[in-house]
Amino acid sequence: MNLRTIARYGVRSVPGEEKEVVAAFRRGEAVEGPAIKEFEERFAAYHYMDYTTAASFGRMAFYYILRALDLPAGSEIIFPALTFWVVPEMARRAGLRPVFVDVDPSTFNIDPSKIEAAITERTRAIVPTHLYGQPCEMTEIMRVAEKHNLIVVEDCAQAAGARYRGRLVGTFGAASFFSFQMLKGINTYGGGMAMTNDAGVAARVREQAENEPLQSAQSLAKRFLGGYISRAGISPKWFTFWGYPLQALASVFGHYDLSKYIWEKIRPLDPFPRAYRQRYSNVQAIVGLRGLAHLDEFNARSRAHAARYTKGLSDCRAIKTPRASSDIEHVYYQYCIYASDPRRASRRAIRSGVDFETTHVDVCSALDLFKEYAATCPGAESTESALQLPVYSRLRDSDVERVLEVVRRVTGDMTALGEESSVQSAVTQNAVTLSGNSAR
Ligand SMILES: *Cc1c(COP(=O)(O)O)cnc(C)c1O
Repeated sequence: MNLRTIARYGVRSVPGEEKEVVAAFRRGEAVEGPAIKEFEERFAAYHYMDYTTAASFGRMAFYYILRALDLPAGSEIIFPALTFWVVPEMARRAGLRPVFVDVDPSTFNIDPSKIEAAITERTRAIVPTHLYGQPCEMTEIMRVAEKHNLIVVEDCAQAAGARYRGRLVGTFGAASFFSFQMLKGINTYGGGMAMTNDAGVAARVREQAENEPLQSAQSLAKRFLGGYISRAGISPKWFTFWGYPLQALASVFGHYDLSKYIWEKIRPLDPFPRAYRQRYSNVQAIVGLRGLAHLDEFNARSRAHAARYTKGLSDCRAIKTPRASSDIEHVYYQYCIYASDPRRASRRAIRSGVDFETTHVDVCSALDLFKEYAATCPGAESTESALQLPVYSRLRDSDVERVLEVVRRVTGDMTALGEESSVQSAVTQNAVTLSGNSAR
């Protein structure tokens, strides 16, 4: 029996990073120092963009952008119905009204054909989320935005380094933002970045970010210590000892999903928690510089893992693998499949030592928090049955083969996905043929 268990998430880190972190603390350059500016400049240069500002969180970078845009109070901002709840919550906090547009369940991204129907004379902006590392249909989104004179702010929190028709995400809209949380493409144990080519917006974003109080060296030490402990905790070596027994035990009682203990509680962010109002630190930027330098390499690894799954699962009738369009470069923050019985599949998988996540982002249009802005979004709701396979760059090739083997095994006896609908379409097709025949 293979004792190595594979957690649903893995943390990106560049070997040798810890030594530099310790050295920064020793030099007294954990809080302030030259790396912040260097990280901002390299990040901008990577994207061929003019201005970037680091922030305490990706969400705060977005908040600063919204305030910098100086929109009239009560302006409507279009969001995908499926996104991380904190993003529309930031708009609400900035005195704006989120409007939710349904997503295409095959891409998990905002459905561009549904945007126009949501536009009113109060609409000012569209915030497409490049969800799970997959770029949105930017040509169509930019066309609609230009036609209606709307500002586009891209949420690139899950998609740093992804490309749409050869062009990096975050370079299409008037502004964009990124996250450097532990699980994101560049991990600096928290933090975010705002990016724009508009000098005025950039100056107003910077003014807000630099107005925040500095983090203390002590709280930074805690941030890194906590980060390293969690990073080790979900590594195969340690996850085997705590996460796996816990999850496997829970799976026996049918109560196996631990994700609700991992993610932040959905609540009004009013007032902001104290950690939001902080300045980005030099030691985080040191780690960020290393992460940025390895971003393309890490993304290529995740992409290779994904390609292996797509090929290896192509004959599984109980599974639908993600659609990979040829004109985009997906970075696979998550690899999401649809399975005919996702809950049973993940329950069985954890007993084989492979941990799947069932759902991860929020159907914001149906959250209590956004009752006032509720919308009917069947596409977003249908994604709640999606299953995420571990695809992170830290996985070894042998881990990927193992996941593949487990997925095939646990879904092997399940009914084919969408059998009913294909039967139905066959019936309709027959009817059409028949009526066509009789007409002739
Ligand atoms: C992580 C994330 C954010 C916010 O990033 P923070 O740094 O946690 O504020 C925003 N949007 C999406 C889609 C995310 O996944």
